[in-house]
Amino acid sequence: MRATLTIHTAAIAENWRRLAALAEPAECAAVVKADAYGLGAALVAPALRAAGARTFFTALAEEALALRDILGDGPAIYCFNGATAEDARDLAAADVRPVLNSPAQVAAFRVAARDAPLTCALQLDSGMNRLGMEADELSALLDDPAALDGLAPDLALSHLACADDPADLMNRAQLASFEAMTAHPRLARLRRSLAATGGALLGPAWRFDMVRPGVGLYGGLPFREAERVVDLEAPVIQLRDVAKGEAVGYGGAWVADAPARVATIAAGYADGLIRAMGGRARAFHKGRALPVIGRVSMDLLTIDATVAPDLGPGDMVSLLGPDQGVDALAAAAGTIGYEILTALGARYARRCV
Ligand SMILES: *Cc1c(COP(=O)(O)O)cnc(C)c1O
Repeated sequence: MRATLTIHTAAIAENWRRLAALAEPAECAAVVKADAYGLGAALVAPALRAAGARTFFTALAEEALALRDILGDGPAIYCFNGATAEDARDLAAADVRPVLNSPAQVAAFRVAARDAPLTCALQLDSGMNRLGMEADELSALLDDPAALDGLAPDLALSHLACADDPADLMNRAQLASFEAMTAHPRLARLRRSLAATGGALLGPAWRFDMVRPGVGLYGGLPFREAERVVDLEAPVIQLRDVAKGEAVGYGGAWVADAPARVATIAAGYADGLIRAMGGRARAFHKGRALPVIGRVSMDLLTIDATVAPDLGPGDMVSLLGPDQGVDALAAAAGTIGYEILTALGARYARRCV
């Protein structure tokens, strides 16, 4: 008996359509890095393609090459982390466009250029200090007439550090910096993209030619209008009554302060139900909240099922579903929806509906 993860691809497609309608006239791309935020790129990417997505982003070059096999020719595929000299030729052959983040990456990708110029993107650092060229690196690059020989950059992008908070002053500062950097005449023909999910919701000024949502497609904040995308249910495999004063699980971390009924659930931190959920998160059964008690183990967790006397072995409790979304479970564990999604383990029976 094992836990079941249900992925609603129709909801992912619907979330993409909602973001695409909101972003118009900007194009709405789709970010499917980290195996589509843990949900399975082989399932998710074709559904997004069918919904109308024409441009996809991964993080790694390897993810982008695998995605080309999944999607076939047609859609544009970019990889955020760029290219090394070693993978440049494979990327060019598969028409995968690296996002070049430094003068060194620009130079490395040029080695793959043969007959036709290679399409790529340039990432500019507008203030996050994570990936991308700083203003002085960019101007030095563009001052060298030969620096882009063999390359056909078609997109300039940057990433916002604080877009989940519309009030954060960093958003406007990064917008101004991105506009200034992309004003260079040699970048005039490039399309521009600054916004992920949060940035797309900030307003039209942040959307430029293309928005790049990831988490909003998968039902996560800050896209409040998203449809629910995942259901996670795990089976009860044993029940016991514990007396007042008895302890449950590793370290005896939970002690009954009154007689209680404890259910043991077949899912644990190896399945992405992280240890930080112990004593803080809740499972649900028929709408009733059943606290996760004691420590989460690798393959098991325990819940206080005292208020659910009808719960029996083989019954499923819900960890993600109508009663508790990805962000609510994340909040209970002191993390964010992104981490809950990408941590979802490989052991689940996965159903796609
Ligand atoms: C992950 C990522 C995105 C998507 O971000 P979400 O917040 O999930 O919408 C967009 N752009 C870049 C550069 C990223 O790394």
